Amino acid sequence: MKSEIIAVGSEMLTPFRQDTNSLYITEKLNGIGITVAFKSIVGDRQKDLVNAIRTALGRVDILIVMGGLGPTEDDLTREAVAEALSLTLRRDASQVAALHARAAGWRITMPQNNLKQADVLEGATLLPNPNGSAPGQWLDTTFGGYRKLIALLPGPPHECRPLFDAECMPRLSVAVPPRAIAVRTLKAAMIPESQADKLLAPVYTTYTDVETTLLAHTGDLQITLICSKQDPDAARQRVDELAERIEEKLEDWLYSSQGDSLEQIVLYYLELRQATMAVAESCTGGLVAERITSVPGASRSFLGGAVVYSDELKTSLAGVPAELIARHGAVSAEVAKALAQGIRARTGASVGLGVTGIAGPTGATETKPVGLVHIAVCDPQGSDALERTFRGDRQRVREWAAQQALDLVRRRLM
Ligand code: ATP
Ligand code: MG
Repeated sequence: MKSEIIAVGSEMLTPFRQDTNSLYITEKLNGIGITVAFKSIVGDRQKDLVNAIRTALGRVDILIVMGGLGPTEDDLTREAVAEALSLTLRRDASQVAALHARAAGWRITMPQNNLKQADVLEGATLLPNPNGSAPGQWLDTTFGGYRKLIALLPGPPHECRPLFDAECMPRLSVAVPPRAIAVRTLKAAMIPESQADKLLAPVYTTYTDVETTLLAHTGDLQITLICSKQDPDAARQRVDELAERIEEKLEDWLYSSQGDSLEQIVLYYLELRQATMAVAESCTGGLVAERITSVPGASRSFLGGAVVYSDELKTSLAGVPAELIARHGAVSAEVAKALAQGIRARTGASVGLGVTGIAGPTGATETKPVGLVHIAVCDPQGSDALERTFRGDRQRVREWAAQQALDLVRRRLM
């Protein structure tokens, strides 16, 4: 079954606020086999809303409208749905009483316009909202001769999401024919996008019953496989079979077949080897450490490190000989290696990582372009080093460098 989500609120048409509720709801809908075919954001104008609602009902069976259920002038969702479907609104007495009780609890007299939150669409069921004053509404109705399910939800995320889970999910699960969904997420690092597609497209395009999406972001490739079938075992089997064929193609670019992040995998291998790690970062300014420490339990293997941006700190904190920097420059293979070895020696970690580069937009020299990055990793058995030139603005170069650094550690530990 197909659905559409409409987020109501002019603020989400500005650069300052984003519709995030729909992402949450989409994941839940997909989980019970409902596709989100359309999604839109509509400002607080009744005419536009009516238009959007009618358009949606002309093309999907399930419509989720969220936001605009509050008490203010610009909260128009109830009125718009009523107009779009030619339904009346009736003021619900128990809802009015509940609003009065809520106001009394806060020792305020309720403003008159708050009462519109008690307006219920003809034929709708009220959905209790324990986290706010405006209840949701559920409408099982017809439009153009077809059955339509419509949910009206409050906009604030802490109201919208629990209400959707508690009130809409059970109703939707009954309405849609039961189907089992099998999902697998594979992750690969630093594989060029064109290469990934060349390797994988011939494989996944033959699995027409599995929905495959490739999502690439600064050196991180996420492949999601979704299969929906009546028989759960059959769905699982198809997804696993395709996953296995993709794993073969990706070889050691693949770092997880279960959706883990690269930093989780690095920590996993560190623990497996009973190793500890420390980092000395220059151009990434702590991005590597930030990613590692975002994983719960990182302290079991990650000791810490230093952001050594100036030449002086490279020497005083990471033990890089000043003479080495003078001879090869701060962005060089020699300094990257010395950073890795130095931070390892200073911290007593078993694995040391050093990153140095030119993030730009300034700082390039005749022989060293913006985007040039040197990375080194060392452990008791030896070391690995890499030179890369990344394209893009300052932030992208930094993110690519952090990703490459984590991947170099992963490959060393594997
Ligand atoms: P209220 O009673 O608070 O007025 P409401 O149902 O009218 O509830 P809105 O006024 O539309 O909701 O939004 C309230 C808050 O929730 C705003 O801060 C808004 O930015 C946020 N919000 C609304 N819709 C969404 C959404 N789709 N995703 C994330 N945040 C949202
Ligand atoms: Mg509002």
